[in-house]
Amino acid sequence: MGFVRGLKCRECGREYPVDPIYVCEFCFGPLEVAYDYKKIKRVLTKKNILKRDKNLWRYKELLPIDGEPQVGLNSGYTPLVKADNLAKVLGVKELYIKDDTVAHPTLSFKDRVVAVALTKAKEFGFDTVACASTGNLAHSVSAHGAKAGFKRFVFIPASLEPSKIVASLIYAPNVIAVDGNYDEVNRLCSEIANKYKWAFVNINIRPFYAEGSKTQGFEIIEQLGWQAPDNVVVPCASGSLLTKVWKAFKEFKEIGIIKELDTKMFAAQATGCSPISAAIKQGTDVIRPVKPNTIAKSLAIGNPADGFYASQVVKESGGYAEDVSDDEIVEGIKLLASTEGIFAETAGGVTIAAAKKLIQQGYIGKNDTTVVCITGNGLKTQEAIVGKTAQVHSIKPKLEAFEEVLKNIR
Ligand SMILES: *Cc1c(COP(=O)(O)O)cnc(C)c1O
Ligand SMILES: [Zn+2]
Repeated sequence: MGFVRGLKCRECGREYPVDPIYVCEFCFGPLEVAYDYKKIKRVLTKKNILKRDKNLWRYKELLPIDGEPQVGLNSGYTPLVKADNLAKVLGVKELYIKDDTVAHPTLSFKDRVVAVALTKAKEFGFDTVACASTGNLAHSVSAHGAKAGFKRFVFIPASLEPSKIVASLIYAPNVIAVDGNYDEVNRLCSEIANKYKWAFVNINIRPFYAEGSKTQGFEIIEQLGWQAPDNVVVPCASGSLLTKVWKAFKEFKEIGIIKELDTKMFAAQATGCSPISAAIKQGTDVIRPVKPNTIAKSLAIGNPADGFYASQVVKESGGYAEDVSDDEIVEGIKLLASTEGIFAETAGGVTIAAAKKLIQQGYIGKNDTTVVCITGNGLKTQEAIVGKTAQVHSIKPKLEAFEEVLKNIR
């Protein structure tokens, strides 16, 4: 076993052994997992992938574990839905929804990253797992951590939607609601991670955790019949998912699974928290931190750890970015639900509304193949749309009463 070469600094390239570390001692750059692609190429063939179970571990040689997968055995391999109704409304020929609202135990793409992070935490011998979360990560760490037998601490901003807090509490972790925004929660967690020997999935084992997001990219290529799309629209919080979908595409090219890669990567953010899209639109490499103010709370990271790298991927691939208002987010959620029958959380509203703008502005071509990543389920953020949907028709239990209503519908 063992397809991992070690950790490597993204800035200076210095290499490190596989340990629960995340910053370069020399330049403070973030560490990333490096693989032995020659070795992987011999094992990870299309034929072998097709023989495996339909979950995120079917690409396990490109994930940073030494032994067998231990967590998230039923997560991933979510549907890639051909969205013909939505395509018609948006005026494009070929549109797909990568639907991470389903096929994950906690109904968001965070089950991908947590499956990898907790398997690695087991390999490292940790007994406690923790995270700083905007909501979905807390659900996933709480649930998968319960199944895997870890002690669990999840840290969230106290201002999260009540339904999102309950959806963590049900798995009985220790939920710490911090009076502050995500960036303050994250800072506190960095201090705690330094002091306690816990596996903070998105801090001290972040290099391993982040690799889990690649599985979304691998699946997109497999489900498109082993080819990369022309465009992918990805919602950004820390910016990690976007960089990892791109890394996945490049790795599949590196090991010969695809011959060509000519995909443009597009970043989607809420205007109320858009440090990444602002930098891309202004053509600068500097990510200016902001104070988040948006209903898309799962994307509300004002100082995004991977913001710079996400903006570089967008630039390198020839893509662009767009951000959308809270009203546009709600419209996006409603549009996706009413055309494709997919109920997305606010982050999904961001992605749909941003995709719509990018199409209107011509950044996404009408004859292109485009994949829009929908990353979390709408049942999690119902507060955002209460009172903004169609209303119920209230009647007495009488046929005449129903027919009275029917008159007004037709
Ligand atoms: C965390 C999250 C994202 C984005 O994650 P990053 O990798 O931090 O950019 C997108 N959508 C949802 C629903 C999330 O919970
Ligand atoms: Zn370095």
